[in-house]
Amino acid sequence: MSEPFVEVVDEATLQERVAQLGSEISADYEGTPPIVVGVLKGSLPFMTDLVKHLPFGVELDFLSLTRFGHHGRVSLAMDTSLSMDGRDVLIVEDIVDTGLTLTTLRRLMEVKGARDVRTVALLDKATRRIVDVPVEYRGFEVGDEFLLGYGLDWEGRFRNVRSLWGVMDLKTLADEPQLFAQKVFGEGALIRGVAAAR
Ligand code: 5GP
Repeated sequence: MSEPFVEVVDEATLQERVAQLGSEISADYEGTPPIVVGVLKGSLPFMTDLVKHLPFGVELDFLSLTRFGHHGRVSLAMDTSLSMDGRDVLIVEDIVDTGLTLTTLRRLMEVKGARDVRTVALLDKATRRIVDVPVEYRGFEVGDEFLLGYGLDWEGRFRNVRSLWGVMDLKTLADEPQLFAQKVFGEGALIRGVAAAR
């Protein structure tokens, strides 16, 4: 039987690419530090690593969105707190898929008065795009498999996995999530709702 879970990008490669993105961004924003806006919760590990590579005094802000249905409407669950008026804003996304979320976010930053809005996305599922939306900085272009780890979740779990995994068999993940937990965290790894002893 083929492997249900495959490591798509290992930790060292992720960290190396994040550092490169940091250098690119630093060069472009020289002299005008942006507000870096993280989209919760998926961008958290990536944003934490990325901002360590920005050698200027950035301000951080966050927002969170709720999505209704897979291609459905997006609404704001938590808004940013800083004034964006006249500022350069860098949106940090984990992954751009259809592009609908990012389109909404960019508009929102413009409505808040941002002077310039750019996006850094760790991952880009470019072949799945429904709306054309600019992504100024991208880490990796990926295929259309379901990805997990380094911010990306399954049912709210596994965002803390240090590398990026592709799920080849979603049914195995749904039926036995502890198999994935053991693979990435080692034998005896616990996850909520699954009995420890099996
Ligand atoms: P879009 O609006 O571009 O279709 O959706 C982007 C959002 O979809 C991401 O922020 C992420 O929450 C979710 N998403 C897209 N592809 C994946 C994936 O492969 N794995 C996970 N866990 N979430 C994904």
